[in-house]
Amino acid sequence: MKTLAIIGSTGSIGKSALEVYENNKNNFKLLALAANTNFSKLSKQYLKFRPQNIFLTSNKKIKNYKKNKNLITKEFFIKKNNKKIDYVISGVSGYEAIKINFDLIKISKKLLIANKETLVCGGKIFLDLAKKNKCEIIPIDSEHHCIDFFLKYISSKKDIKKIYLTASGGPFYNKKINYSEKLSEVINHPTWKMGKKISVDSSTFANKVLELFEAKILFGIPNHKLGIKVETKSNTHAIIRLYNNLIMPIMHIPSMKIPIANSLGVSNNLILNLNNFKSEYFDVDTKKFPLVKLGFYILKNCSSAGFIIFTVLNERLVQKFLKNEVKYGEIVDKLVKLFKHSDLLKKSKKNIKNIKDIYDTINYAKKIKL
Ligand code: NDP
Ligand code: MG
Repeated sequence: MKTLAIIGSTGSIGKSALEVYENNKNNFKLLALAANTNFSKLSKQYLKFRPQNIFLTSNKKIKNYKKNKNLITKEFFIKKNNKKIDYVISGVSGYEAIKINFDLIKISKKLLIANKETLVCGGKIFLDLAKKNKCEIIPIDSEHHCIDFFLKYISSKKDIKKIYLTASGGPFYNKKINYSEKLSEVINHPTWKMGKKISVDSSTFANKVLELFEAKILFGIPNHKLGIKVETKSNTHAIIRLYNNLIMPIMHIPSMKIPIANSLGVSNNLILNLNNFKSEYFDVDTKKFPLVKLGFYILKNCSSAGFIIFTVLNERLVQKFLKNEVKYGEIVDKLVKLFKHSDLLKKSKKNIKNIKDIYDTINYAKKIKL
């Protein structure tokens, strides 16, 4: 029996992870579930799934804290858990998750990571530290899961001519975008049910830009071999084109249960009908979705500091949109304009050598006037 912890259990990834756990209970001992602040949902999960511990990553104080002996602090879990956990699923959202994931490396044998912000901002430093701590990083973002799976089966990356990440196109792919678009329309994703932040990112294509950076960091593929295509049904997650002209779309239904179950090495209990897998591929209209052009510009001209600055600025703008402090159209407009400033571009080319450089760059991007 393998030990398992799910961090961010109250979110959309957490829900899929718990469904996979429920279908494969006999394979796992559930050590912990964790949320940020949503104690009410976490308590319900505690009663249903009976993990050994629950904790809040925010360490928010809860009434009756002492009465609930299973509610531990994050520090207790990270520091006192002296035996490494077989599988930790990290479904925490946003760049604030970076610190948590750096901690999780030290206590996990395998870290299944959905949080793209950590991979994009932590970059090679995060991956190297994981290696040093003998922690295997397993990407479960569906595109990267598919690419990772494929790469394990080919003899040489040299055979690859191009890797395309596929995008659903989001809610506005076939619709006009209004500058003052309502939140309900923005997060009304046609194929995926996800948290608010990633749903907004999907509508602007910021999600695909983050995934482009994520792929660069995880697989070390040269820039000119990375591309993006649109496939509106979200059945295809990546397309691999080889020099011998074999083209391999990698497909699964849009359910995060597949990457999670595959990475845990257990059944996903899904029954698929091959006749539903009809897919058409399109190029992205970069006039309508200018962040894609910006993403490729950053990929080619900046260092991983540029990835960090894009991640933080985008998240700050999305949070402002969620709080009704900026209009929807301003997210993209402001990002494109900010990346024209010479000081920001200079900082985006800086070499990131250690964890301090990562946090310095995050702090720089946090202070930029939006
Ligand atoms: P949700 O918003 O649905 O859930 C986020 C989870 O993280 C919640 O459990 C939340 O706890 C916790 N959390 C939020 N903020 C913090 C914080 N500052 N510190 C610690 N914990 C925090 O997000 P998703 O599940 O949709 O996404 C999670 C991550 O996975 C994101 O990085 C996203 O990009 C990535 N991802 C998601 C996919 C999806 O299908 N949803 C697909 C691919 C990648 P609480 O409830 O207490 O707020
Ligand atoms: Mg994805």
